[in-house]
Amino acid sequence: MKIEFINLQKQYQSYKDSINREITEVLESSAYIRGDKIKSLESALSAFTGCDHSIACSSGTDALILALMAIGLKPGDEVIVPTFTFIATAEAVAFLGGVPVFVDIEAESYNIDVEKLEEKITRHTKCIIPVALFGQTADMDVINQLAVRYSKKYGSKIYVIEDAAQSFGATYKGRKSCNLSDLACTSFFPAKPLGCYGDGGAVFTNDGELAEQIRIILNHGQTQKYVHSRVGINGRLDTIQAGVLLAKMNHYEDEISKRQVIAKYYSDHLKTVKTPRIEPGYTSVWAQYCVRSENRDKLMEKCKIRGIPTAIYYPIPLHMQEVFKSLGEKAGSFPVAEMMAKEIFALPMSAFLELGEQKYIVEALNEE
Ligand SMILES: *Cc1c(COP(=O)(O)O)cnc(C)c1O
Repeated sequence: MKIEFINLQKQYQSYKDSINREITEVLESSAYIRGDKIKSLESALSAFTGCDHSIACSSGTDALILALMAIGLKPGDEVIVPTFTFIATAEAVAFLGGVPVFVDIEAESYNIDVEKLEEKITRHTKCIIPVALFGQTADMDVINQLAVRYSKKYGSKIYVIEDAAQSFGATYKGRKSCNLSDLACTSFFPAKPLGCYGDGGAVFTNDGELAEQIRIILNHGQTQKYVHSRVGINGRLDTIQAGVLLAKMNHYEDEISKRQVIAKYYSDHLKTVKTPRIEPGYTSVWAQYCVRSENRDKLMEKCKIRGIPTAIYYPIPLHMQEVFKSLGEKAGSFPVAEMMAKEIFALPMSAFLELGEQKYIVEALNEE
């Protein structure tokens, strides 16, 4: 059997007519940048998340840069991030001259350990970026409360930006990811739970002033045509991508349910590996279904021989990356993340993964 890690081809074939129609409309309109489709997408994103302001942008990484610029991150400001995440979470901070301050993760949910977070807050902390890793949010209420408490203590606001690149559509105590903190950033990279056909992302907030600044920053700091109030970037989403997303959003709730059924099948049937925990009151969109084993390399090899693709997210925690060497963190300082990097691996996941394929994967892993 030959299994796809994420079956994007089957997804395209299933929604082909509506996706092609959306793309054709953009081509016929000649509005390739901005235009009505971007507005329709932003309305759809707001309706979906419940957030007042949804701002489409060029990628998840740019979404983080836009959010950090909007809160006024200055060189030397500290930003607290988990050490076990995709590079972009900390890269956006460092790119703007901020100092990433790493925190270890919690072993069952893979998310930032809120008990270890508090001791990293200082009077230089500008922001906390919890990541909703693999599709499940962090404990956002506790993190928001910590931010409020220390904002009062130090007399300057500590923002919370949810890195929701992997969790668009997930819920936390009945509320949607992307609508749980001051700001949130998601990604529409093709492999994310909701992906377009190139790069794309969005920033979410309920703060009208921050939203206005983000719209200005993503368009070269422009307030009116050729009038510029601040330094910005070219951070716009291509209009064709908005069309693709609008077509795919019609099927997204259904896809999320299917992903959840597949994840449950994995969790109920896998015997030889540690399966992920979803906290009570949370739902995941399963950007990745990641398991842990001390025999990871053997199991991955076994999968490979049987035509089952697997992947490692992430093999090197951020505090051990060359790019962050100057921060002075040592191997051994974040034991959970370091253990995770050695044991974790991801199994195929998409709404189009068939039951026969799921059975085949489970049997391969369970076999002694
Ligand atoms: C994918 C990802 C990003 C970056 O998104 P891009 O659209 O690829 O720029 C940021 N943070 C996390 C956690 C991600 O998984």
